Amino acid sequence: MKKRVAVIGAGPSGLSLLRAFDSAAEKGAEIPEIVCFEKQGEVGGLWKFEEGKGVDEHGEIVHGSMYRDLYINGPKEVNEYVDYSFEEHYGKVIGSYPPRPVLLSYIRGRAEKYNLCAKFSVRFNSSVSKISYSEDTAKFTVTVKDRSTARNGTEAKVYSEDFDHVVVAVGHFSTPNVPQFPGLEAFKGSVLHAHDVRDLSEFRGMDVLLVGSGYTAEDIACQCFKLGAASVTITFRSNPTGCCNWPESIKEVPLLERVDSNGRTCHFKDGSSKDVDAIILCTGYLHDFPFMVGDELRLVAGNRMWPLGLYQGVVLETHPKVFYLGMQAQFYSFTMFDAQAWYVRDVIMGRLTLPSSTEEMVAHSRKWREAELAALAKLDVKPFQGDYVKELIRHTDCPITPEFVDKTQQMGVDWDKHKALDIMSYRDHAFVSAVTGNLARTHHTPWMQNFDDSLESYVNF
Ligand code: FAD
Repeated sequence: MKKRVAVIGAGPSGLSLLRAFDSAAEKGAEIPEIVCFEKQGEVGGLWKFEEGKGVDEHGEIVHGSMYRDLYINGPKEVNEYVDYSFEEHYGKVIGSYPPRPVLLSYIRGRAEKYNLCAKFSVRFNSSVSKISYSEDTAKFTVTVKDRSTARNGTEAKVYSEDFDHVVVAVGHFSTPNVPQFPGLEAFKGSVLHAHDVRDLSEFRGMDVLLVGSGYTAEDIACQCFKLGAASVTITFRSNPTGCCNWPESIKEVPLLERVDSNGRTCHFKDGSSKDVDAIILCTGYLHDFPFMVGDELRLVAGNRMWPLGLYQGVVLETHPKVFYLGMQAQFYSFTMFDAQAWYVRDVIMGRLTLPSSTEEMVAHSRKWREAELAALAKLDVKPFQGDYVKELIRHTDCPITPEFVDKTQQMGVDWDKHKALDIMSYRDHAFVSAVTGNLARTHHTPWMQNFDDSLESYVNF
C-alpha cells in the first residue's frame, strides 16, 4: 500500500511541496499518494486578491490579507524559482518590484508548467475542518468540508479520509491579532485590522493612525502617503520602524495609550496626542490551526525567524509525522518554501532519518534559536535565514544552490541600502537575476507615480 499524504493549502508553500514530489517522480522515484486540500477555488494563496473582509459566507475567516495596490516589498529576484525564472514565465525581462497580480501569475505559471494540479489530487473548495490522530491505526483522519456543495442555503458535504502524514501549508497571515486599547470602542472614525484593508485610496485626505511598526505598517504608511492621506502617524510598542527618511507627513510616536472620549484624539505614551480619522491595526497575525485536534498536533508559534517546536523548522517535534511549511517570519518566502518542501519530501519518503528522540530534536532547535537571538542582536536576521536555507538544501537534491543564497543575501544588503536612501523610491531599483544572470528592467514609471497596479501595465512596455 502506498503511503497517503494530506497537504493542507495550495498557496506557494503547498505548491512547493507538490513540485518537490513531482521532481522526485521525474527522476523515477516512486512517490506516495498526495491529496492537497485547498479551501479557495484556485491556487495562489494570499496572492489571490479577495474583495471580502472579516468572515466569509462559510463562517470562516477570509484568507486574503493583501490590498489592491500591493507591490512586493523586496526584490522579486530573492524569491525567484530556480526551476522557473520570471523571464521564462513572461518571455522577457521585467522590473524587480512588480505588483501582486504579476506574482500571482508567476506562481500559477510554475504550477502549470509542471502540471501540478493534474498530476496530484488537488481538491479545491475543500476546507479542512478537523485533523485527528489514532494511535490504534497509526493514521490521521482528515475531515473536509466540500464548500462547492453548499448551495442555496444547503449545508456543505462533509467527509473524512485517512492519511499517514499531514503537511500543514496554510500560511500564518490570515488570523488577525487584535489588541485592545482604552477608548478604542468609542472611536468615531473607522478602525480596522490590516487584514481587512483592501484599498488604501479610501484614506485619501485623512489623518491615519497605524498601530504597529513592522513591515505591514511600513508598507501601509508608504501606500497611504502615495495615495494622498493627509498624514500618517505610526505608533510603536518597542521599536520604531527603523526607517530614517519618512516624508514630513509621516511621524512615528511611542505606543497608543488611549483614545479620548471625544472619539477622535489619540494619546501616546510620550504624552503627545493626535486627532485622527482612521486607525489601522498593523498588529500582526496569529499562527492559527483550529482544525488540529489535540495539543500534540498543534504548533504554537509567533512570527519570528525561528519558532520553537519544529525540528529543522518543519518537523513537528511533538508528532514527527506532521510537518508545517512556511511558519517562519519571511525574508525568504518561495525560496525557503522550496528548501523546506524538498526536506519534508525526503523525510516522508524515508530518504532522511530524523533523530531518534524528541530531546535531540528539541536541543537542535534550541541551537537555532540561540543563533536567531544572536542575529537579532546584530539587527539583521536575513543572513540567519540564508543559513537556514543552506542547511536544508545540503540534505536534499533541491535545485537551490549555496551560490544562489549568497547572491540573494547580497540583494538583501543592497535592498537595505536603497531603503535607507529613500523609502519612497527603493522600488525603482533593478537587480540581477541569480537564475538567468540578466539585469531586471527599470520600470517605465517610478513607483511613486505609478497608480496602475495591473499585470498588463507592469509587464507590457
Ligand atoms: P498562503 O499564501 O497564506 O496560502 C495558504 C493556503 O492555504 C491558501 O490558499 C488558503 O486558502 C489555504 N488554506 C488555509 N486554511 C485552509 C484549510 N483549513 N483548508 C484548506 N485550505 C486552507 N511575501 C513575499 O515574498 N513578498 C512580498 O512582497 C510579500 N508581501 C506580503 C504582503 C502581505 C500583506 C502579506 C499578508 C504577506 C506577504 N508576503 C510576501 C508573505 C506571504 O505570506 C508569502 O509570500 C506566501 O503567500 C505564503 O505562502 P503560504 O502558502 O505559506 O501561505
